[in-house]
Amino acid sequence: MLTSISGKSVIVTGGSKGIGKGIASVFAKQGAKVMVVARTEKDAVVTVEEIKAAGGTADMFLCDVADWDQVMGMAEYTAKTFGGIDILCANAGIFPQVKMIEMGADDWDQVMSTNLKSSFLCVKACIPYFEKAGKGRVVITSSITGPVTGYPGWAHYGASKAGQLGFIRTAAMELSRYNTTINAVMPGNIMTEGLADLGQDYLDSMANSIPLKRLGSVEDIANAALFFASDEAAYITGQSIIVDGGQILPE
Ligand code: NDP
Repeated sequence: MLTSISGKSVIVTGGSKGIGKGIASVFAKQGAKVMVVARTEKDAVVTVEEIKAAGGTADMFLCDVADWDQVMGMAEYTAKTFGGIDILCANAGIFPQVKMIEMGADDWDQVMSTNLKSSFLCVKACIPYFEKAGKGRVVITSSITGPVTGYPGWAHYGASKAGQLGFIRTAAMELSRYNTTINAVMPGNIMTEGLADLGQDYLDSMANSIPLKRLGSVEDIANAALFFASDEAAYITGQSIIVDGGQILPE
């Protein structure tokens, strides 16, 4: 157990499903108090109940991470409920696939707001609490798509994910005065509920194209986030780590 995580107050945006749910569960297993943030109540309730049933501490806050007033409410509620904010895992994201020929300005804005603007808003809302605590940790969920690779239909998504890496470079410098680090995890293809619809044959062919011959698990990403959030990573900031089973390595 990473002792530095136990008892910490952690916000996980997009914590009700997929990778975020994995992050919430792994942090809760380490003894953290986890605030599960999402827009949909049903999934968030299930996640909170599962964490509590496993002996962990969790609560939920429903909000749109692209809305400043709601994000401020998220930070205030978390600090009031858990006595402060120690760690922010800014993970919520959307990935609608639209070719540029059909993409409208609204499609672009929605993805950029949900994925990129939200990173800034969530960090900004947590700064007063990191300042008060004299320390803090931020872990952003980026992607290999955008910073490293491309994919048809994901021009907006790739730009938002590359933008997150640009954001953390300057954020790391500004957050250093609050003794706070910010880093990013860049997942490859991760097995989430959403992928199950693709069918086993497709999933098998995806797995075969990856050197480690499997899709990533949500725990693979959560463990990298856990490291960045730990005291052991105290001297790492403004950095990113690819967690992809070797997917982007050249043949
Ligand atoms: P899921 O679709 O499984 O989960 C997304 C989560 O984000 C849900 O909890 C959802 O809840 C929440 N969410 C979405 N929009 C908002 C919003 N505006 N405000 C608050 N919460 C929101 O996604 P994944 O777990 O697959 O992806 C999570 C992150 O990982 C994303 O940033 C994604 O880009 C990144 N990623 C995923 C990869 C993968 O293979 N799965 C690969 C690389 C990166 P609700 O809808 O109720 O709001």
